Amino acid sequence: MISIAIDGPSGAGKSTISRTVAEKLGYLYVDTGALYRTIGLFVLRNGGDPKNETQVAALLPQLKVDMGYENGIQQMFLQGENVTDQIRTPEVSMAASGVSAHGCVRAYLLDLQRRLARENNVIMDGRDIGTVVLPDADVKIFLTASSEVRAKRRFKELTAKGEKTTFETVLEDVEKRDYADIHRALSPLTQAEDAVVADTSQLDFAESVTLIQKIITDHLSKKMV
Ligand code: C5P
Repeated sequence: MISIAIDGPSGAGKSTISRTVAEKLGYLYVDTGALYRTIGLFVLRNGGDPKNETQVAALLPQLKVDMGYENGIQQMFLQGENVTDQIRTPEVSMAASGVSAHGCVRAYLLDLQRRLARENNVIMDGRDIGTVVLPDADVKIFLTASSEVRAKRRFKELTAKGEKTTFETVLEDVEKRDYADIHRALSPLTQAEDAVVADTSQLDFAESVTLIQKIITDHLSKKMV
């Protein structure tokens, strides 16, 4: 099986780019952020504080998280309920960042992610895929863009969905999450030594897709010879 690891900060376009490239290559696309988001939502719904490891660990035994695909789109299920849309709010983003710092949560999700990569050709995106989850991935890409560009894209996305927010709030959220993801003790967001860096600050969506696809096909064809 072939695995492609795509890591990078929030809002770099990882999910949309990865999903499109996976579709073109016929690979399974796995959005690991959605797993952390589902656990974040679970903790919020149960009145827990996502940053409090003791509370999160106490809730985990009751958690039932499942993943499925509908027309090639990853769906998340929490206690059997489809929560694919509910996990995209700014509140759940912060909760996901909170729960993702805890060892119990990362351990809970590790096997699931590795199993998916054992059984399928995957493009998996996240923060620690190339460094921790799939250290032997065939291709590792670190996808990034400046925080202003990332906040601008997210702001557009949120307002298009009818969320009331300001660019400044979104930028602050992006920077807060970056800081937390980079500075946490466990699986911090870092570039794997053997990752190829792709900066999409100056690229539009189509150009970003072309770049990522080229990096993947170039690496895979070099590996074959
Ligand atoms: O990628 P996305 O923004 O959906 O991820 C939500 C949060 O989940 C991130 O801020 C990050 O803290 C966490 N995450 C992680 N490891 C991953 C994927 C996401 O810690 N592999």
